[in-house]
Amino acid sequence: MVPRGSNAGLRVSLPVMRIDLHTHSIASDGTETPADVARSAKTAGLDVFALTDHDTTAGWQEAGDTAVTLGLAFVPGMEITCTTSNGVSVHMLSYLHDPTHEPLLTALESSRAGRLTRARRMVELLSADYDITWDDVQRHMGADATVGRPHIADALVELGIVSNRSAAFFDILSGRSPYYVRHTTMDPVEAIKLVRAAGGVPVCAHPMAPTRGRIPTEADFDAMIDAGLAGLEVAHRDNPDETRAILMQMAADHDLIVTGSSDYHGKGKPNLLGENSTSVQSLTRICEQATSDIKVRWP
Ligand code: AMP
Ligand code: FE
Ligand code: FE
Ligand code: ZN
Repeated sequence: MVPRGSNAGLRVSLPVMRIDLHTHSIASDGTETPADVARSAKTAGLDVFALTDHDTTAGWQEAGDTAVTLGLAFVPGMEITCTTSNGVSVHMLSYLHDPTHEPLLTALESSRAGRLTRARRMVELLSADYDITWDDVQRHMGADATVGRPHIADALVELGIVSNRSAAFFDILSGRSPYYVRHTTMDPVEAIKLVRAAGGVPVCAHPMAPTRGRIPTEADFDAMIDAGLAGLEVAHRDNPDETRAILMQMAADHDLIVTGSSDYHGKGKPNLLGENSTSVQSLTRICEQATSDIKVRWP
């Protein structure tokens, strides 16, 4: 007999789902097609994944089609490159927004155009010292991809100038390099307002990652929360344990959604699908806050 007050003998069947809400394809700086990201997600044993390419939703259809065919759920997402007025880099994940929302699209197109001018300028500067051309870079970009330094890194690898993307970022392509060129991007507060206006759910990616440069100040976080920030990507390999504790407290204080993700870039980064994950409860809250017609695609 099961003693009173004991759970012994109880069969608890909570749903166990492996959910990874941050991945990239060749629509931005990942190395796999959107369909291949879905296949890799299946191989990695995920049940749900989001495609969150930088500043574009071009991979949604293909990734979603493949995902449901393989029996995976697909969350349409994006990662918006932002910079605060003090020059701190912030990446804002957006889930389930309307990809045709004009004000958001206009801001993204301006950002993407700025990235192109900037990448070409960086290659021009590099070409003074290295045998690299814009064609070398373009070979590593998907059609209409959001261009970034990783594409320049891939060209440098192919040309034998560096051994991999990480080595390129450590030195030639770092923010302190003479070849580095800035580009104009959205303010995170503006991005949050646009994502909300487009019915999406804004979650700050790797919010306290000192290895990525300066982190947002308390005032920056307060402004983002006031603007409608929905969540914080706490479990990400770039957030050290010390800052995860601060982020968990911030989430508790402001009732923010906590997520965890891999930030998979295919072969472009060591990050592995499913190395961090998001709870069913957090995904449910994201779905509840979304107000556009875009839904999670279930198999
Ligand atoms: P950009 O947006 O052009 O300034 O380039 C930043 C992108 O480069 C980020 O989205 C990262 O995915 C990627 N990146 C940053 N650091 C590294 C690294 N050490 N190794 C590989 N990729 C990196
Ligand atoms: Fe990236
Ligand atoms: Fe990011
Ligand atoms: Zn990312």
